[in-house]
Amino acid sequence: MNFDLTPEQDQLRDAVRALGRRYGHSYFVEKAKTGGHTSELWSEAGRLGYLGVNIPTEYGGGGGGITELALVCEELAAAGCPLLLLVVSPAIAATVINKHGTDEQRKRHLPGLADGTQKIVFAITEPEAGSNFHRLGTVARRDGDDWLLSGRKCYISGVDEAQYVLVVARTEDASTGKLKPALFIVPTDAPGLTRSKLDMEILSPENQFLLYLDDVRLPADALVGESLDAGLPALFAGLNPERITVAAMGAGTGRYAIERASEYTATRKVWDGRSIGSHQGVAHPLAHAAVQVELARLMIHKAAALYDAGRDLEAGISGNMAKYAAGEAAALAVDTAVQALGGAGMTTEYGIATLLGAVRAGRIAPVSREMILNFVAQHVLGQDKSY
Ligand SMILES: Cc1cc2nc3c(=O)[nH]c(=O)nc-3n(C[C@H](O)[C@H](O)[C@H](O)COP(=O)(O)OP(=O)(O)OC[C@H]3O[C@@H](n4cnc5c(N)ncnc54)[C@H](O)[C@@H]3O)c2cc1C
Repeated sequence: MNFDLTPEQDQLRDAVRALGRRYGHSYFVEKAKTGGHTSELWSEAGRLGYLGVNIPTEYGGGGGGITELALVCEELAAAGCPLLLLVVSPAIAATVINKHGTDEQRKRHLPGLADGTQKIVFAITEPEAGSNFHRLGTVARRDGDDWLLSGRKCYISGVDEAQYVLVVARTEDASTGKLKPALFIVPTDAPGLTRSKLDMEILSPENQFLLYLDDVRLPADALVGESLDAGLPALFAGLNPERITVAAMGAGTGRYAIERASEYTATRKVWDGRSIGSHQGVAHPLAHAAVQVELARLMIHKAAALYDAGRDLEAGISGNMAKYAAGEAAALAVDTAVQALGGAGMTTEYGIATLLGAVRAGRIAPVSREMILNFVAQHVLGQDKSY
């Protein structure tokens, strides 16, 4: 058993950390408060090759795996820049297209995803279906060689920043009650595709949208893969990378909060010249949160290693557990850090309460803690499916 990163992974981690720190949390907050996007950070990360670490070298990527992409997600978050679009564009979309797209789709999309000039966001959630994606109501119908897509999606992140959205639909002729998914790469400016921004209580430069698809006409080659049979494996291909990278983002955010709080409590003195961190009532909750974050990181490394070794089923279990653990640990860490700073914890200046909404959402999205517990109960504990 080896817990060490390779020298290349170590270098990557240090380099991404340095980049993240150059921008920092105040950059992230300023963009969020002024309605901007983290475009400069995204472009620089793309130019430096960090967005494409998991994309094959023949398409301009780094030829690494989800281990490397998770490092990028974690280190940017640990610098105060938790970028959700890393989870949708390089983790989900690039994996789906690389593994299940056609040659032509790989050539068209992977180089831009690798250097950050192209973003593809991901749309599965629907108002009526929610966690139950078997109830998806977005329908794809054939019209000659074209496809027509109709339906509604909700909470879709980053549509305003992306050139394409990877839409999960179902085929009309397969409406037997069982999901026969089909994935489509839809230009965000396609006629018939409209959006409205959702007001969310999350301080983030990345926004969520309602999407309306009204007979969106797409050419045959917008369908991911050579045939409709690619749909189900393509959909599942995105799940493990999504779980692992979102977990890494949570762990990084937890580290960021604990680090900020530890610096503060080690130097803040309100009693007889002793730091507030010398009081166990302040230090122990922080230490407890640090343990939870570190445990989550272990599970993230395990899940990423299994995934990169091609052991998808085991990676599914570890990835879900990692996502659960990191979501809980990040929320605990940020809440504990706010408490340790007292009033300063609620200010914008100290940059911790600014993450409360994001870590709270991390217990719901992209898969809720309850749905992970359902998965673990069924697949690890052998219980009957409860839903
Ligand atoms: C910030 C943010 C960004 C997002 N970005 C995207 C995105 O880019 N693309 C995308 O497609 N979606 C996105 N989502 C949507 C997200 O994936 C969903 O919110 C999530 O899957 C839960 O679905 P829901 O909100 O419809 O909740 P519901 O399914 O309505 O569930 C409500 C509550 O009931 C619980 N619940 C439901 N069923 C069960 C059950 N069988 N057993 C136990 N508990 C259950 C859930 O855990 C949850 O707590 C985003 C959401 C947020 C908050």
